[in-house]
Amino acid sequence: MTQPILVTGGAGYIGSHTCVALIESGHTPLVLDNLCNSSSESLERVRRISGVRPGFVEGDVRDAALLDRVLAEQRPQAVIHFAGLKAVGESVQQPLEYYDNNVGGTVTLLQAMQRAGLRNLIFSSSATVYGDPASVPIREDFPRSATNPYGRSKLMIEDVLGDLYRADPAWRIARLRYFNPVGAHPSGLIGEDPRGVPNNLLPYITQVAVGRLSRLRIFGGDWPTPDGTGVRDFIHVMDLAEGHVAALRHLLAHEGMFTVNLGTGQGCSVLQMVQAFERCCGRGLPYEIVQRRAGDIAECWADPAQAQRLLNWKAVRDLDTICADAWRWQQANPAGYA
Ligand code: NAD
Ligand code: UDP
Repeated sequence: MTQPILVTGGAGYIGSHTCVALIESGHTPLVLDNLCNSSSESLERVRRISGVRPGFVEGDVRDAALLDRVLAEQRPQAVIHFAGLKAVGESVQQPLEYYDNNVGGTVTLLQAMQRAGLRNLIFSSSATVYGDPASVPIREDFPRSATNPYGRSKLMIEDVLGDLYRADPAWRIARLRYFNPVGAHPSGLIGEDPRGVPNNLLPYITQVAVGRLSRLRIFGGDWPTPDGTGVRDFIHVMDLAEGHVAALRHLLAHEGMFTVNLGTGQGCSVLQMVQAFERCCGRGLPYEIVQRRAGDIAECWADPAQAQRLLNWKAVRDLDTICADAWRWQQANPAGYA
């Protein structure tokens, strides 16, 4: 029997797409998720796409006894660790929740892996660890900083992983720094399903387009960028998912720890994204330009050369594909998985 890949947080947005990519590349995902920000319906949809329903354990990464049991019974080959909380604003209001879930959860997971003799880990980090970068594109060796508890939790976990690797180089660790994951699987069966009003740009846009929200507010038209709106590196979630498969392939074949950006290397402004989406759905989107959002930065995009060199991976899906896939998902599932 092939050893599974344990996917913590695998019922969530990036995790469910990664399950599809894992299955398509011959791996067997086993999801552990407490469903605090997702629905297990996503895994049923993964089955409809791929023909395989990932194994599912409903539980928390902070539950050491559960982890011991799962690792002993299932003997996974590696862990892809997505589980965590990710809302920046909420992290400012509830910092302890974020440190407990993200940092505490990761330490509990690492301890259980150590007890089980399993030392292969892929971790979901974020471009947020670059803070407000001095220049773009951003390389992995740029300085890191945090402006909120969510970002600080990612910084702390990166450092925990670095310390662990230095203490025991038998660990194989990938720290993947995602830029802005967007879009959905082309089937329209899985996609991003935020609870409540979306914080992120693309789900906000699709919910305006489908009539769930009345108008988009663009946070700032006076940034030092070509059109005055913020610039980001929007990466299709299936490109990101395939980046995990590439990272896993590398990790299983090579010793060591590596840190790579997963981005496209292209900056796209908020207005350019709105226009691309208008082209895709064939209608105008009501929007207004309002004050900058606290904590935002002007521009952020990746230098993806390291991922290409090390993993032989690069993002291939363009902005039109991102919009078309996000729109297909939103139209087919106007209320998400509910
Ligand atoms: P998501 O909320 O859709 O997925 C996270 C999953 O983890 C959810 O299914 C949730 O129920 C689960 N979870 C949370 N805490 C848990 C716990 N203690 N035990 C078990 N399960 C738990 O988020 P996502 O967008 O898929 O993000 C996945 C990872 O990628 C997160 O670590 C996030 O910080 C990171 N990341 C996301 C983005 C982004 O913009 N989406 C960008 C950079 C990094
Ligand atoms: N943004 C916006 N309106 C929204 C949500 C986001 O104008 O309702 C802008 C935000 O200011 C930033 C970009 O869209 O310039 C991407 O924001 P998002 O929250 O999606 O990702 P971030 O880069 O902040 O992680």
